[in-house]
Amino acid sequence: MHKLLVKKLNVDFNQWKTGKRYFCNVGHVKVSIENHSEHTKDHKVTNYPTVNAQHYDVAIVGGGMVGIAFACSLASIPLTKRLSVAIIDSNPSLTGEVSVKKDETPDPRVSTITPTTISLLKDIGAWKYVEQQRHAFFSKMQVWDYTGMGYTRYNAGDVDKEALGCVVENKVLHSSLLLCLKDTDFQWMKFPSRLTSMTLNSAAGSEESGSSSSKPALYADGQLAKLHLSDGSNLFAKLVVGADGGKSRVRELAGFSTTGWNYLQHAVICTVEHAEENHCAWQRFLPEGPIALLPLGGNFSNIVWTMGPKESADHKEMNADNFVKAVNHSLDFGHGPHPQSSGGVKDVFSWLSTDLISTNECFEVPPKVTRLVSEKMVFPLSLMHANSYATKRVALMGDAAHTVHPLAGQGVNLGFGDAFALSKVISEGIALGVDIGEVSLLRKYEADRKAANILMAAVLDGFQKAYAVDFGPLNVLRAVAFHVVQYIPPLKRGIISYASGDQKMPLFS
Ligand SMILES: Cc1cc2nc3c(=O)[nH]c(=O)nc-3n(C[C@H](O)[C@H](O)[C@H](O)COP(=O)(O)OP(=O)(O)OC[C@H]3O[C@@H](n4cnc5c(N)ncnc54)[C@H](O)[C@@H]3O)c2cc1C
Repeated sequence: MHKLLVKKLNVDFNQWKTGKRYFCNVGHVKVSIENHSEHTKDHKVTNYPTVNAQHYDVAIVGGGMVGIAFACSLASIPLTKRLSVAIIDSNPSLTGEVSVKKDETPDPRVSTITPTTISLLKDIGAWKYVEQQRHAFFSKMQVWDYTGMGYTRYNAGDVDKEALGCVVENKVLHSSLLLCLKDTDFQWMKFPSRLTSMTLNSAAGSEESGSSSSKPALYADGQLAKLHLSDGSNLFAKLVVGADGGKSRVRELAGFSTTGWNYLQHAVICTVEHAEENHCAWQRFLPEGPIALLPLGGNFSNIVWTMGPKESADHKEMNADNFVKAVNHSLDFGHGPHPQSSGGVKDVFSWLSTDLISTNECFEVPPKVTRLVSEKMVFPLSLMHANSYATKRVALMGDAAHTVHPLAGQGVNLGFGDAFALSKVISEGIALGVDIGEVSLLRKYEADRKAANILMAAVLDGFQKAYAVDFGPLNVLRAVAFHVVQYIPPLKRGIISYASGDQKMPLFS
């Protein structure tokens, strides 16, 4: 036993030297484990009663974009930067090479990042790494549908901004967040493994087997959750954060129920090339679903094309030349004519005063695609919302808490919003001396995020449904909606700010 303890102390000391320690106290939250450990603001090495038990303040399950953003956010806040954090994910991108070469062909998996997200990423120090890699701001957007009855143009100048958003490859975002995290002296440890099960003890008793003498007292008292990993190791944490995506194991193990449905639509995504640079985000609603052409910098764009499952399988199999023809057809005269500007409608709304820059912009045909330059990938689409994001010792964030239709590119933006909100709430809890796994604290986070996330999911679901029906009167209504938004400045400004991450609904203000 003595030998084991010495061995363990050596391991801890080595981790201490490399800046990777296990479990510390923060601010005035004093923690002690079976009187074997000592925690101070100065991070003294912690001695543990057992060799296998590893103890952390926070265990983040899922080191995707949202999980790593959460860790970066904790690292950036004075009261949370001294927490000890475990990040569990077997995805090789967490352990491998973290830089993306600029001359590589852009990856088909991209995210449109809102101005609100960009400023949050700047706050935590991650944006500078994105700036060093490939990304593409866009200042213009055009939305129209196949009926040819109307269109709406948006311009960043309408809201005195330089950009409406930025398209970034997911691997650039992920590697930037990892670089940011590695650049801090934050105490985090990665576990290249998967969560298989989890035990959330209540103070009243434990369902765990094993002798109580080998079990940490805090765990037995319900003050730690125990995580079981696929490589056979275990660890303990005061708070488990499920950032493990749409099929979240944390959500399942903690018993969170969900509401939602499958859209019976799939998204086909890929990277394409043009003869010239594309600076605008284009989206056309077709009978089967929207097709988006998003600028990626240089002559590259990303395609996100929503269609039925059978059509998506056909398009995936299609040869590159035929696929390019189908894309160009769908972004031009396919399914219906180009819309005309409607001066008459503009006159009706002239009493609403000032024109915006985009009000006078005519409909444009997107730049032709010349070449398919990546593989095509297909994703089934669904709406899912966890009915609760928090229980004692567990919180959900990102796709583990909600998945939305990608038609407005909001999914990961909502996830980043969750990550920043939870780290802020944890910091407030630490300031008050509250246990960071306490449900009353975690409910504050849930209250912060749930309303905004549900509202966005409902808006996107409404759009998906409104454009999924080909029915005469509804087509006319949609055309009216395009015109109304095109020519009513307050409404257009409201939509731009809502899509930019402002949590207010796009109503007249
Ligand atoms: C076609 C398409 C287009 C999209 N476009 C946009 C867009 O333009 N803008 C936007 O904001 N959003 C967009 N989204 C949504 C966005 O991609 C997701 O919201 C985002 O990837 C979610 O990130 P996440 O970190 O929450 O989850 P994920 O990216 O799913 O990461 C979860 C991580 O958890 C790990 N994991 C899973 N299970 C376990 C386990 N048991 N143990 C340990 N680790 C585990 C996985 O390995 C993974 O690394 C789009 C989605 C799709 C499908």
